[in-house]
Amino acid sequence: MSRYNDPDCRLCRRELVKLYLKGNRCFSLRCPLEKKSQHPGQHGAARKKLSEYALRLREKQKLRRYYGILERQFRRYFDIATRQREIPTGTKLLQLLETRLDNVVYRLGFAPSRSAAHQLVGHGHFLVNGRPTNVSSYSLKPGDVIELKPGSRGIPMVQEGMEQVKGRRIPEWLRLDPDNFRGEVLAMPAREQIDAPVQEQLVVEFYSR
Ligand code: SF4
Repeated sequence: MSRYNDPDCRLCRRELVKLYLKGNRCFSLRCPLEKKSQHPGQHGAARKKLSEYALRLREKQKLRRYYGILERQFRRYFDIATRQREIPTGTKLLQLLETRLDNVVYRLGFAPSRSAAHQLVGHGHFLVNGRPTNVSSYSLKPGDVIELKPGSRGIPMVQEGMEQVKGRRIPEWLRLDPDNFRGEVLAMPAREQIDAPVQEQLVVEFYSR
């Protein structure tokens, strides 16, 4: 029987978009959203049109869940994004989320999902610029080098991630050296290089109301 009641999948079904929370399953036909696109619950199909407020709230929740961030920390990222003037606030917010160490570990294929990457980083399996780092929210910059410790390369979760990444693209702003389990941040990601399924302007409007 399909596990439609799986909590992670419910989050995707709530937002009606794939948030890629479960590793390999998200890229297969076992993903419930490949078959069914309605909100979870008995009355999922009968949801009414969203109000302006609800639309912005849903967009914010979608982005927060996509990166697996708690509300307080997400709000902190938004406040940091508003304090700069060089690029639009929404783009800066996405850059801050995208350059978190756990997200980059996932993007490089060292983990099959962001939650797995969060766990691997927390358990101290990575070096950043040669130093052990176990802070998932560590903010990476161009030139930073991420490396999986030699003793951690056989972890099944890592192997699963490396297998999965063969079927998806490494973003242009990152470089992967798979033989040495090493990656590098080449540049800050541009908006068009971030594939988060979100209209970030609505998130900005949510917090600016
Ligand atoms: Fe579940 Fe992944 Fe599909 Fe989301 S994308 S519904 S987490 S399998």
